[in-house]
Amino acid sequence: MPIDATRPYDPDNIFARILRGEIACDRVYEDDHALAFRDIAPQAPQHILVIPKGAFVSWDDFSARASEAEIAGFVRAVGTVARAAGLVAPGYRLLANVGPQAGQEVPHLHVHLFGGKPLGPMLASR
Ligand code: 5GP
Repeated sequence: MPIDATRPYDPDNIFARILRGEIACDRVYEDDHALAFRDIAPQAPQHILVIPKGAFVSWDDFSARASEAEIAGFVRAVGTVARAAGLVAPGYRLLANVGPQAGQEVPHLHVHLFGGKPLGPMLASR
C-alpha cells in the first residue's frame, strides 16, 4: 500500500526495524551513515536497497532535513555499494520512490539499485 510521504516518520516501519536488528536482512554493506541489503523480492539479478541510518521518510524529507555529513555519507555509500557489486562497467539504475504516485511502500528513504542485466526502458508505461 503506497504511503503518504508527507506524514511524520514512523519508527516502527520495516526498515527502521531492520536498522535496529529486530528483523534480519541480507546485508551487503554498512557504515556510519548507511545500510545496504538485498531486496526481499528482487526485480533484477542485482536488486539492492540502500538506506540512510537516520530517520527520514523519503528523498524529500532527507534532502530537506539531513545534515551535509548525512547527505554526503549516504550518496557515497550508494556509489560504494554499486562499485563493490561490480556494476559500474555494465551499468546500473538508481530509483527512489517518493509518495503515492511513485508507489512508495516503505516510509524510510531507500534507493533501489538495479543491475545485472539490460534494464530496458526507464518506465514500463507512460
Ligand atoms: P518501495 O515501493 O517503497 O520503493 O520499495 C520497497 C521495497 O522494499 C520493495 O522492493 C520490497 O520488496 C522491499 N521490502 C519490503 N519489505 C522488505 C523486507 O522486510 N526486507 C527486504 N529486504 N526488503 C523488503
